[in-house]
Amino acid sequence: MATKIIPHWIDGVAYERSERTGDVFNPATGEVQAKVCFATPAVVDEAVESAWKASQSWRHSSIAKRMKILFAFRELVAKHAGEIAKLLTLEHGKVTGDAMGEVQRGLEVIEFACGIADLQKGEFSENVSTEVDTYSIRQPLGVVAGITPFNFPAMVPMWMYPIAIACGNAFILKPSERDPSAANLCAQLFAEAGLPPGVFNVVHGDKVAVDRLLEHPKISAVSFVGSTPIAQYIYETGTKHGKRVQALGGAKNHMIVLPDADMEWAADAAISAGYGSAGERCMAISMLVGVGAAADKLVPLLKERIAKLKVGDGLDAGSEMGPLVTKAHLDKVRGYVDAGVKEGATLVADGRTLAVSGRPGGFFLGPCLFDNVKPNMAIYKDEIFGPVLSVTRVATYDEAIALVNKNPYANGVAIFTNDGGAARKFQHEVEVGMVGINVPIPVPMAYYSFGGWKASLFGDLHIHGRDGVKFYTRTKAVTSRWPDPRHRGVDLGFPQMS
Ligand code: NAD
Repeated sequence: MATKIIPHWIDGVAYERSERTGDVFNPATGEVQAKVCFATPAVVDEAVESAWKASQSWRHSSIAKRMKILFAFRELVAKHAGEIAKLLTLEHGKVTGDAMGEVQRGLEVIEFACGIADLQKGEFSENVSTEVDTYSIRQPLGVVAGITPFNFPAMVPMWMYPIAIACGNAFILKPSERDPSAANLCAQLFAEAGLPPGVFNVVHGDKVAVDRLLEHPKISAVSFVGSTPIAQYIYETGTKHGKRVQALGGAKNHMIVLPDADMEWAADAAISAGYGSAGERCMAISMLVGVGAAADKLVPLLKERIAKLKVGDGLDAGSEMGPLVTKAHLDKVRGYVDAGVKEGATLVADGRTLAVSGRPGGFFLGPCLFDNVKPNMAIYKDEIFGPVLSVTRVATYDEAIALVNKNPYANGVAIFTNDGGAARKFQHEVEVGMVGINVPIPVPMAYYSFGGWKASLFGDLHIHGRDGVKFYTRTKAVTSRWPDPRHRGVDLGFPQMS
């Protein structure tokens, strides 16, 4: 059978150019299931020209028209949620329920963008001086690009393009080359919803495509989500080329458990947040910080739950955790488990021995749990991005918060406690962008903005919510004077308010 080719989406149609391609695996079987076109600089230029041309009329489209298309797109994404989710499972590996959840969270951003009539409103001050009014308007930037990671192939792009397009921009998406198909399906649905050709384009590929996007003079802004070293590179290169850039990076999320917490609840939360999506979430909990006696109670409860977790093909109804995305990533995560053992941490649950029946070539790793992890170990310092949960023990709350605040990453954090005062003190003192109180994965809803601090974000504005609208528009302040028929004559002085 001929290998399936995943094309780009440019100017409203599928666009196959396969001078360069990449392999797309099914992580559950380990087989190559398709080849994805990798854009050359010339293909990126074609996408930019298409977007540029489209942006020239889209920027003048009425708010009513933009909203109508967004509402129609929202309906189509909801109708095809199962189909999108299946693509996610086939290429990323996450289990069906998790994939459906991803589509749902993306839909919430589309729904937020449907409110653009209110979101893009400017301000107005009448009579700032006699007969003078000042108002601000929010205008689109033109062509903007989004570069996205493998772990949320539908949701993370949806953090960007519905809002960018609702604001009147044309958008070019460069999704992860590891799970590229959801982007094409969504582009198709947007076209079906009535979006004019060129307003939303998808170019697939690697660094070659990204570098051309970063330097292209007709691109005004770049949103990026991915690992910290690449986020920093995108921010530095994009801003050097005069672009507005928001680049969200990696994470090392801690969950502090105080001794007064409900331990059963904390254990359930830690398992869900540590092993959901095989730990391939930027908001996954990877470090459990047990304060005082908390870890002694927590570790046996975690071990009990791990033993019951069902790992398998994400398409199988019984699976709770799927495979990792690629063999290279599996090897990297296994390497961290080996390193943890070598560095002296206690391996309480060893997922390296797992075999999934009927799937000998799949990129599976069972849930791993370390205890007695110390801050100088690689498994503490690095983002592992796999099903590896580590427990570290501290004597006091102050030690716990110092540990979190010393970490270079600052995406998400959680505290589990029954003490409202301790929780309030924590939310005030912790230096992290997204905070959960008895909530292990505190992802804000679409109408708040998502983003970390420190090495988890390069740039000023977070993603979606009101920050998203700010990022994809620039404000213009207009001062206008419509005098009554009396004319006051020439005045060379600096205007004074009167
Ligand atoms: P990645 O940084 O390897 O890739 C992200 C994107 O950058 C992809 O589209 C990829 O093609 C491109 N890219 C990769 N190497 C590049 C290079 N050298 N030059 C230019 N472009 C390059 O990230 P990933 O492995 O796909 O995703 C996992 C990472 O994303 C994790 O670190 C995770 O924490 C992070 N992430 C962060 C958030 C957040 O909101 N902060 C959300 C999701 C994922």
